[in-house]
Amino acid sequence: MVRIQADALRRIIAEIFHRAGCNETEAGTVAKRLVDANLVGHDSHGVVRIPTYLEMVRGGGVALNQHAKIVVDTAVLVVVDGQCGFGQVIGEEAMAIGIDKAKRSGVGVVALRHSSHLGRIGDWTEQCAEAGFVSIHFVNVVGAGAIVAPFGGTDARISTNPFSAGLPRPDGKHVILDMATSKLAEGKVKVALNKGVELPEGALIDNKGRPTRRPSDLYTTPRGALTPMGEHKGYGIAVFCEFLAGILSGGGTNRHERRDERVLNNMLSIILNPSPTGDKSYVHEEADAFIKWLLDSPAADPGKPVMLPGDPERLNRAERLRDGVPLDDITWGNIVSAGASLGMDPAGMKKQARAG
Ligand code: NAD
Repeated sequence: MVRIQADALRRIIAEIFHRAGCNETEAGTVAKRLVDANLVGHDSHGVVRIPTYLEMVRGGGVALNQHAKIVVDTAVLVVVDGQCGFGQVIGEEAMAIGIDKAKRSGVGVVALRHSSHLGRIGDWTEQCAEAGFVSIHFVNVVGAGAIVAPFGGTDARISTNPFSAGLPRPDGKHVILDMATSKLAEGKVKVALNKGVELPEGALIDNKGRPTRRPSDLYTTPRGALTPMGEHKGYGIAVFCEFLAGILSGGGTNRHERRDERVLNNMLSIILNPSPTGDKSYVHEEADAFIKWLLDSPAADPGKPVMLPGDPERLNRAERLRDGVPLDDITWGNIVSAGASLGMDPAGMKKQARAG
């Protein structure tokens, strides 16, 4: 395991994407978002993705240097086409469009289609919260092939369809719920595979529909499948990710006949002014009081006080900004090889990483 300061890691990753063909701004944005996912503790959506992203670049799975394109524009709703561009850029631009709508109309609804991987969905919720808006996001995936079994099913039919919601807080400690609707996000299975550890019970079935804890059972041919979080309830949210993100955006749902296409995310985002009358005091005071009410609950384990959604990510960010981003040897080795394949000097990358 190595620990690398976030700034140094960002510079290395940005150079990789710049050499792969992204302009400087795009390379910087992709690097910032990937390293940020590591900073907040979602290693599954961070720099572990470099080999897959580069494969997508080489195979035409992602279109370089694209921008969010408005295809339908009404007072409240916009349909935005991501033109298969990097989700890190397209997501940020789509949210800026929605925030602008919400500033004018009190509500902005963005139906985003055809974005390449949007990464950590909490990024978009945080962007809305930073601008002072409540937001709700439903996301589906097309093209990757299914990876999650429907509740009660024995094979994969949907994806890990994430859901996110956020409430802005005046102190910047926004409440951000951001979760896959499967018990585990797929990237966490990859991380477990790299680390050689077993998965928690009940998170995976093999390709015969039998429960298993071996991460490799997800990657057999035919594949195993992740299970929905919260049994039928998480499954229900995942179904609505397909309906809302997939159908309302025009980007489509996850069906087997789409498996040869590029891997794309669609996202329906509802962005709301939390105090349309202009008086923010009620929202903030009531939220303060309610948060205190929750956090005052005596902890079941005295070492683990009650937290709010978004707190674990904030704690991780503080710790990793201080101590550096931990990367397992396989992930770091893959980054160095990726850089070397694009003409970067492996010894130089290692030196840069050590220098921080
Ligand atoms: P997770 O299970 O680690 O966390 C889910 C939520 O629970 C977070 O909001 C977190 O703040 C909150 N939480 C965690 N522990 C808590 C506690 N003790 N008390 C209160 N709240 C707590 O997240 P996940 O489901 O593994 O998802 C990981 C990431 O994967 C997310 O960022 C998600 O957006 C991303 N993802 C993306 C895609 C995609 O297609 N782009 C698909 C699936 C998942």
